[in-house]
Amino acid sequence: MGSDGFAYQRQRMVDALREEGITDRRVLEAMNEVPRHFFVPSHLRHQAYGQDVSIDIGEGQTISQPRVVAAMTQAAAVKPSSRVLEVGTGSGYQAAILATLCQFVFTVERIASLAREAKRRLDALGFENVSVKVMDGTLGWRAMAPYDAILVTAGAPEIPEPLLEQLADGGRLVVPVGDRGRQVLTVVERHGERFRRMELQGACFVPLIGRHGWREEGR
Ligand code: SAH
Repeated sequence: MGSDGFAYQRQRMVDALREEGITDRRVLEAMNEVPRHFFVPSHLRHQAYGQDVSIDIGEGQTISQPRVVAAMTQAAAVKPSSRVLEVGTGSGYQAAILATLCQFVFTVERIASLAREAKRRLDALGFENVSVKVMDGTLGWRAMAPYDAILVTAGAPEIPEPLLEQLADGGRLVVPVGDRGRQVLTVVERHGERFRRMELQGACFVPLIGRHGWREEGR
């Protein structure tokens, strides 16, 4: 990675993130390393590093803005030894950031074609510590639990209970909670059987659809 013609844009994106208050050095480094343009459709590559741009990745889904990816990753407080679950693989970009920072990333996506494409990208970039699976992530991925961090990258009506159960002691769940159009980034930290809940900034995600999420539109 690095000399791919986008290094300058990537550096500018990271400078902007720092100015906006992202302080975690490892998060900033990871965002400087992962080629974000590789995760968007080729005709939209020129937009890939725009701070405020969420980009259409097909199937009505979007890759989150850099500032949201950075804020969620920072809030998850992951370590090199962390095992992490992501719900909502989408393009695979957030998974790539996490895989750069953690020991292993389990990521689940409900739309098979997106999961396939994401897997192809992650393989092409040489990530060997990511597992992609097609399933309803509101149920978590029980077989691989517990997780040191869980990131949900789609908007939930409420915190899915199975995800709390699959969180390791001291682990953090980061999930946008609200209505279909607008949510608040919420962080839940587990201490034994107690859960401490904090709220960060507002956000605007596509809906989390599943058993412990929203119903599919028109149903
Ligand atoms: N993290 C992604 C952005 C995801 S957009 C990235 O970095 O590109 C949200 C994704 O969540 C969409 O791809 C959508 O299909 C998926 N999704 C919605 N509900 C889901 C569920 N219950 N389980 C798994 N994936 C879900």
